[in-house]
Amino acid sequence: MSGAPRALVIGGSLGGLLAANALRAVGWEVEVFERSDGELSSRGGGIVLQADVLRAFEFAGLAHNGLLGVRSEDRIYLDGADRVLQRSRMPQTQTSWNVLYRVLRAGMPPERLHAGRTFVSYEQHEGRVTAHFADGGSESGELLVGADGVRSQVRAQMLPEVAPRYAGYVAWRGVVAETLLPQALRDRLARDFVFQQGDGHLLLAYLVPGEDGAVEEGARRWNWIWYRRVAPGPELALVLTDREGRPHGASLPPGAVAPANYAALLADARRLAAPSFQSLMEATEAPFVQAIADLESPRMLDGRVLLCGDAAFLPRPHTAGSTAKAAGDALTLAMLLNQRQGAPDVGLAQWEQLRLTAGQGMVMTGVTLGERLMGISSA
Ligand SMILES: Cc1cc2nc3c(=O)[nH]c(=O)nc-3n(C[C@H](O)[C@H](O)[C@H](O)COP(=O)(O)OP(=O)(O)OC[C@H]3O[C@@H](n4cnc5c(N)ncnc54)[C@H](O)[C@@H]3O)c2cc1C
Repeated sequence: MSGAPRALVIGGSLGGLLAANALRAVGWEVEVFERSDGELSSRGGGIVLQADVLRAFEFAGLAHNGLLGVRSEDRIYLDGADRVLQRSRMPQTQTSWNVLYRVLRAGMPPERLHAGRTFVSYEQHEGRVTAHFADGGSESGELLVGADGVRSQVRAQMLPEVAPRYAGYVAWRGVVAETLLPQALRDRLARDFVFQQGDGHLLLAYLVPGEDGAVEEGARRWNWIWYRRVAPGPELALVLTDREGRPHGASLPPGAVAPANYAALLADARRLAAPSFQSLMEATEAPFVQAIADLESPRMLDGRVLLCGDAAFLPRPHTAGSTAKAAGDALTLAMLLNQRQGAPDVGLAQWEQLRLTAGQGMVMTGVTLGERLMGISSA
């Protein structure tokens, strides 16, 4: 026995692994419990690489080759005929879920990662938390981190009244190997983060590393997103019905979109999207779709149980900051617990105050941006 305090992390995606690596860096023994079996496979597409993620990597001493993403220099806005309406310099780096996941996972000893373990409930007693799992097992520690995403079971117990609210639009998404695109398009857009602002809809596309993390020309992928308004009720239900006719609650993974729905999207693209975006959509083999939602928790802490990442706050993707927020949750937690070794509850209370403010601010920014971009008024 090491005598180190023990943390149980629920959820082995980016939020959970960020928290696990940061806590290990300040001497905690950390166990991660993930519902899915084996390694998680590529989820979603691109992520804008923000400074907080790099800070969290540095804090945890995570080794990476410095090539975490693909750089873009300018943001450009296209019109419906592919003409550049506006160009502004805004250098940034785009990475992808799988690149970050690989680095974070490599930072953890494999025996600390427990796949196929579904958290069900927790109980607390005198500074110790016990987590119960669907397989009948239980684990105890001094801290339980709920990093189990927007449909968090940890949050369901802590704050049963809190649930995501549909924002009135969806993100159609796809990832395309750059070699599948016409050379002229590749030459024209490779240095840019590309937008097309429509009337009540928004398209964007940017380069991300290849599936294996490669950033060389020819090995990268284009990530595109088309935000479109979809009325709640039957219209949304149709979009979220998969190719087998099964309804889904909030998203369809790559490969599950009904062919008729994607054919309808392509027909709309021919009317509404610039030719560059049409080419990207036509070359996409496995599109996916996510309903955009807002989620705000009034608290993030219940004794020694806390909520991190999307489990606590879900800002809209226009903020490009959810992963950075999860990194900020993790880094702040580890630093405060390290400073307050003799009084962890004081550190946790400080953490909650700081991170509630960060989460609330980001959700508010996302709502304002989303409503403006999509032409939706909440008034
Ligand atoms: C359209 C779109 C674009 C986005 N673009 C960006 C971007 O540009 N930049 C950015 O930073 N972020 C972006 N994001 C968000 C980003 O993907 C997440 O915020 C980030 O990955 C943190 O997620 P998380 O780990 O908290 O939750 P999740 O990734 O949802 O992980 C939760 C994990 O918990 C597991 N789990 C769930 N329930 C249980 C249980 N009961 N027991 C055990 N395990 C459980 C799940 O299997 C999952 O692995 C985007 C999201 C969308 C929808």
